[in-house]
Amino acid sequence: MGFFDNIKKGIKDVFSNAKDDMSYRVKRGAERKLEDAADSAAERVTEAYDERKKERQAQKADEAAAKAAARVCPQCGRRPDADEKFCAECGARIVEKYRVCSVCGAHADADEKFCTECGGAITEKVSGTEE
Ligand SMILES: [Zn+2]
Ligand SMILES: [Zn+2]
Repeated sequence: MGFFDNIKKGIKDVFSNAKDDMSYRVKRGAERKLEDAADSAAERVTEAYDERKKERQAQKADEAAAKAAARVCPQCGRRPDADEKFCAECGARIVEKYRVCSVCGAHADADEKFCTECGGAITEKVSGTEE
C-alpha cells in the first residue's frame, strides 16, 4: 500500500467515524424523543386513570351519603345513627327509604318528581320490600 493510499484510508476512516458518530447521535436523539413521548403518554394515561378513580370514589361517597340519609325507623320515624340496625328508641328494624326512577331505576334527589335521566316518574322504595 502506497503513502497516498494510507492517507486516503485515513481520511475515509475519519469520515466514516464521523458518520457513525453522527448517526449514533441522531439515533440517540430519536430514542430519547421516543422515550419522552412514551413517558408523557404513560403519564397522560395514568392521569386519566386517576381522574376516573377519583370520580368513581366521589360517586361512591355520594351514594353512601344518600343511603345513610335515607335510613329511617319505620315505626317512630326517627333518623338512626349509621350503625343502628334496630331503632334505639323503639326497637323496630331500621329501613332505608330512597327515591328511584320507576323506569330506569336511577336514584333521584328528594325534590325530583321526574327522572333527570329518562323523564320517568319517581317512586319511593323501602329497602327489603322491593320484589
Ligand atoms: Zn323507632
Ligand atoms: Zn329514569
